[in-house]
Amino acid sequence: MTQTSHDLFKAAQLCIPGGVNSPVRAFRGVGGDPIFMDHSEGAYFWDVEGKRYVDYVGSWGPMILGHNHPEVRAAVHAQVDKGLGFGAPTAIEVDMAEMVCRLVPGIESVRMTSSGTEAVMSAIRLARGYTGRDKIIKFEGNYHGHSDSLLVKAGSGALTLGQPSSAGIPREVSQDTLVLPYNDLSAVEQMMQQYGFDVATIIVEPVAGNMGCVPPEPGFLEGLRALCDQYETILIFDEVMTGFRVALGGAQSLYGVRPDLTTFGKIIGGGLPVGALGGPREIMEYLAPNGPVYQAGTLSGNPVAMAAGLKTLQLLSEPGFHDKLAVQTRKLCDGLAERAKAAAIPLQINQVPAMFGWFFSDEPVRGFDAVMRADSRRYARFFHGLLAQGVYLAPSAYEAGFVSAAHGDAEIKATLDAAELVLAQLKE
Ligand code: PLP
Repeated sequence: MTQTSHDLFKAAQLCIPGGVNSPVRAFRGVGGDPIFMDHSEGAYFWDVEGKRYVDYVGSWGPMILGHNHPEVRAAVHAQVDKGLGFGAPTAIEVDMAEMVCRLVPGIESVRMTSSGTEAVMSAIRLARGYTGRDKIIKFEGNYHGHSDSLLVKAGSGALTLGQPSSAGIPREVSQDTLVLPYNDLSAVEQMMQQYGFDVATIIVEPVAGNMGCVPPEPGFLEGLRALCDQYETILIFDEVMTGFRVALGGAQSLYGVRPDLTTFGKIIGGGLPVGALGGPREIMEYLAPNGPVYQAGTLSGNPVAMAAGLKTLQLLSEPGFHDKLAVQTRKLCDGLAERAKAAAIPLQINQVPAMFGWFFSDEPVRGFDAVMRADSRRYARFFHGLLAQGVYLAPSAYEAGFVSAAHGDAEIKATLDAAELVLAQLKE
């Protein structure tokens, strides 16, 4: 007998906290029960009851080639045949590191981790170890994973659940985390005037993707770079989401601003659990075993994960890949804007190549406060309307959406037809 999502969720809640292994999956931001998925291919996945969805979550970012890409699958199978992992160095780790250094100018050395959280946590420790300073600056609504010092006024699931700062974090840990409004350079200037030489790092999502999608204002990233130069502070771009997505060389190449350290996740693992941090050799040499900053991982650089990630990076390096992705995303966003206008529903659309943020609001969304003023209840109705029509958006108003190389014109048209119906219902 077919299991239903409803029955699975009931069973899951008895043995998994909240029935899910990561909070946003629980649909708390939009209401209702989560849908349990069974299999996927290209732009689609199918739930356990056999219903098909056009997917704009893409496993929260990694699936830039589309789901279950045959060449990625083949690379994984080939590695599985050789062994699942050795806890000793492998050739494919060197291939991966060389690939990242080639794709992202300014990166000379890379350390792999098993998640974005670990990559960022390690980058913060490295910045502190390198500078000998404790304070860090982060931005409201930016999410950098769930390590203690970064889970302060965070975005993503923390925001969806209305708990941007978590219980269980000692005051001493969070007191060194200074939080400022995103896209507000003068606030950073003032803070740096006061604390600049105590600040180890400014960490930023170069395109905020964990409060919907909010691009940097012109001059914001450049201004952070200049302040970090002035105060000898490490600038970290958290490119866990934007890396290899908004451009081959990430947001840093799109905006032409070079950070000191970069963190990766999502796409770099091709759908398997991977993260990475990289930067100039001079800073990276502070990591163990060469330097005093300890960092490690039983499964770091796991060859099966490397195989998925490396094949993904190879395929997205093909000339024109990101341009095509941007064109498809533009068709989707423009088509939606037209339909919202025709339906007289105020909708703001932010698009940075293949990332998008849709906000039910009549003011431009350039920062955290505007995100919070957008109508998240209307988003929830929109989400459920589209879900019923077989279109799967992020189950939260505070997440970016992603288009993959498998989203062709047919999928975009089906999405826009569904959106037209749902927007008409939203007026009621
Ligand atoms: N940094 C950013 C910008 C992210 O978007 C995320 C996850 O969404 C993370 C860090 C944490 O990565 P992970 O969930 O792999 O630990």
